[in-house]
Amino acid sequence: MSQSSSSFRDFAAHLLNYEGVLIERIEPEGLELLAPVPVAQVLQIPELARLGFGMELPAHAERVGLESDWLERFGHLLGARGQTARVTLPVALPQLTNAGRVVEHTINLQNAVYRVIGVTPAWTRYLVMLFRVTAFSDEKRDGIVKLGFNLSNGSAIDAIADELLSHAIETEGVNDASPPLPAQLPSDWTQTQLKSRVARALPERIDAHLAPFLKGMQRRLDRDLRRIHDYFNDLRTESLLRLRKQLAAAETETTREHLRLEAIAREYAAKVADLQQKYALRVDVVWSQTLEVVMPVQRVEILIKRRKGERKITLDWNPLARKLDIPPCEYSYTQSPVRMVCDDRLHLISPAAHAPCASCAKAYCRACHPLQCPKCHRKEG
Ligand SMILES: [Zn+2]
Ligand SMILES: [Zn+2]
Repeated sequence: MSQSSSSFRDFAAHLLNYEGVLIERIEPEGLELLAPVPVAQVLQIPELARLGFGMELPAHAERVGLESDWLERFGHLLGARGQTARVTLPVALPQLTNAGRVVEHTINLQNAVYRVIGVTPAWTRYLVMLFRVTAFSDEKRDGIVKLGFNLSNGSAIDAIADELLSHAIETEGVNDASPPLPAQLPSDWTQTQLKSRVARALPERIDAHLAPFLKGMQRRLDRDLRRIHDYFNDLRTESLLRLRKQLAAAETETTREHLRLEAIAREYAAKVADLQQKYALRVDVVWSQTLEVVMPVQRVEILIKRRKGERKITLDWNPLARKLDIPPCEYSYTQSPVRMVCDDRLHLISPAAHAPCASCAKAYCRACHPLQCPKCHRKEG
């Protein structure tokens, strides 16, 4: 919580500063602003204002959180500007002395062996994309989901995205680093490649992001279902008791009680349906920003061997996070690190992307066959 609220404060400070607002950091986790009139109008605040980002607010501060409409207000301020930015981080690049050990700690290949061939200093481009996720159910929840790739090899960079973002925010504005030549950088992905990779990678991150919200929702739903069940169960028990007593009595009486029982059952079903509607989940996902970070890395070249096949891959070691990227799953771009190597083309894939077909049980590589099972032609998804 405090991690995300303080990075939100940093984001706000950076943005407001850029818009010509005088800012001062105040504690706990706040900002004091002196804003030009147009900016104050867009943000719907007085020219002199205090904002609070944490659980505890500074005196006279307005609360700013991801759950409030403040993302929207900042969005208005940004307009279409600032949706994509490129930052070069001129970080000193230390030697990677024990590459073998670093690789051993990172790489987890279930069915192949590998050998480190060499390490060379290189430049890379990381994309960090921010998506705004809004979940609507009985409650509404707003949040930001990050998704990042190393453009050189497609590694998912969830583990270092925060670090890249915060360094990029600090560095912007003092960016006089001599950028590398375009030839030294990995090339752009096509729009189609980027779209398909984002489409495969994003659901996993959204699920993880929404898990606590869904858990809370499930708890409330269970509680409401239990309450309704108990209520109607009591009605039904009473009705049954009356029925038993009336069995000896007139037939019209028992018919009426039967009708009442049916009505109770119907009403119970309707209440459960209402609840299902109340707790139905809708999730909106909107891309909001992409930051490209250009920086030096140590590029580790690795030879992968599977049966008679061989394939060279590279993994980048990031000097800021002092971490080696995980090998990409060339189908799902998952952040979980275990990989298999496929027989035909030596793709790197997660075990889930090499799972048995749901209808014929043949295990196959989804990177080789993204659309359907090669044996029985059952369509994927
Ligand atoms: Zn394959
Ligand atoms: Zn099949």
